[in-house]
Amino acid sequence: MSDGKKSFEYEFGGPIGALGTIIFLPLVTLHLIHFAEVGHIDIPYLKSTSEEECTYVMKDILCPGCSDRTLIIRCASIIVGWFVYMVITSRILPAEFLQGSTLHYPPDHSKKSPDRLIYRINGHLLFWCTMLGIAIGYPSLSSSSSNGVQIIFQPISLHLLQNNLDTCALSTIILCFLLSLFLYLKSFIPGALLAHGGNSGNPIYDFFMGRELNPRPSPKNFFFGNYFDWKEFCELRPGLIGWEVLNLCFALKQYQSLGYISGSMFLINIFQGIYVWDALYQERAILTTMDITTDGFGYMLCFGDLAWVPFTYSLQAQYLLHHDPGLHLFSLFAIIGIHAFGYFIFRSANSQKDAFRRDPNDPSVSNLSFLQTKRGTKLLTSGWWGRARKINYTGDWIMGLSWCLTCGFDSIVPYYYAIYFAILLIHRSVRDDFMCQEKYGDDWEEYKKIVPYRFIPGII
Ligand code: NDP
Repeated sequence: MSDGKKSFEYEFGGPIGALGTIIFLPLVTLHLIHFAEVGHIDIPYLKSTSEEECTYVMKDILCPGCSDRTLIIRCASIIVGWFVYMVITSRILPAEFLQGSTLHYPPDHSKKSPDRLIYRINGHLLFWCTMLGIAIGYPSLSSSSSNGVQIIFQPISLHLLQNNLDTCALSTIILCFLLSLFLYLKSFIPGALLAHGGNSGNPIYDFFMGRELNPRPSPKNFFFGNYFDWKEFCELRPGLIGWEVLNLCFALKQYQSLGYISGSMFLINIFQGIYVWDALYQERAILTTMDITTDGFGYMLCFGDLAWVPFTYSLQAQYLLHHDPGLHLFSLFAIIGIHAFGYFIFRSANSQKDAFRRDPNDPSVSNLSFLQTKRGTKLLTSGWWGRARKINYTGDWIMGLSWCLTCGFDSIVPYYYAIYFAILLIHRSVRDDFMCQEKYGDDWEEYKKIVPYRFIPGII
């Protein structure tokens, strides 16, 4: 191992970068929620005239609700309750069981688990059950003298979430930290298969990157049941569906205060609803992504999935609640056009690769040319993947831009997503390029010669 440690290649700026990100991202999340409410970039404590005022205002943004213990407890209960609800429903709903990619154990690995893990796939059903639950409410017993005992449906109260988003975000951030700490400590149980990139020996860096590749509870665990996978569960369920629930909360709140839902609020709910639905409908596709096959499950993914996605990806809906630009019908149609264009590229490119990976003889892809690699897999060189190597990212980004456009041009705050997502996708494409270079060697060089563009055919 000593040799391996010497040659360990750090990402994200190494331990210092990891520590900075661990601290910085929660601060950004809480500030973004504040910016969406006030409508512009505003850091009030920098303008404070006295130390006392500065501490007071800073506490208001960074520790929302901290002076009200009951509120903190109620918000934390909602967040933990949501997580537990997701675990229980994922466990009891009917599921399809699929095998993941082949795992590569190091030669000295003490406990050889199966070569391919089995995943419980029922996120799509969970999504619809949750939406139905929000629409009709939860069952409760009511007794009246005339009709005896009856089951009635009580509406789910979204009040606390609508009015204390910042406190709920803070509770989620704390939950992420505790979960990541638990997963980091759990990775020291003998037999765990470690992720190459999260096993540097530096505790801060490994806590951030994720030490164990596929952490799971013991198979006989009564609460989680068989095949529960922490990473796959967190990637697609509490945070992603939570994002959609938050958007619905803001649409409902707008309706309660204005008496109508604006065109922009309607569109953002539909656009992002499609995005969430699409990810869950295509749940099986996640099993071959780098998040599942390569990255460990640590603070980076845990925070990203559970806190960053729901609380910052819903920023446009948060902004619209307070600062709806009242866009003209013509603008709304133009935004629908941009979104449809992005979705078309995103979905058809991803589906083409999935279909090809599953069965290269599938009639939808059998006419496409490919490069046979020495590793055994084939790389598409025509169709979407012959136009640009990351054309799916381009489609995804165009969709993201259309979300920001629903907020008009009065503020840069809702455009945070387009800016952040461009950085994420560029960084991710560099990481994937590096990993493919390692996997495919010369074949990857050859593929890059055949398909020289990364994002936009003929340009970049
Ligand atoms: P990709 O779907 O692009 O998958 C990359 C992998 O595909 C490569 O490692 C390689 O894996 C395989 N591959 C690359 N080129 C070819 C080719 N020409 N032919 C066949 N296989 C090829 O990346 P991601 O998993 O990062 O992203 C999936 C989707 O998720 C994207 O649309 C992205 O935009 C979206 N996404 C969204 C995020 C969000 O926060 N909203 C975050 C991250 C991603 P191998 O050789 O092992 O098959």
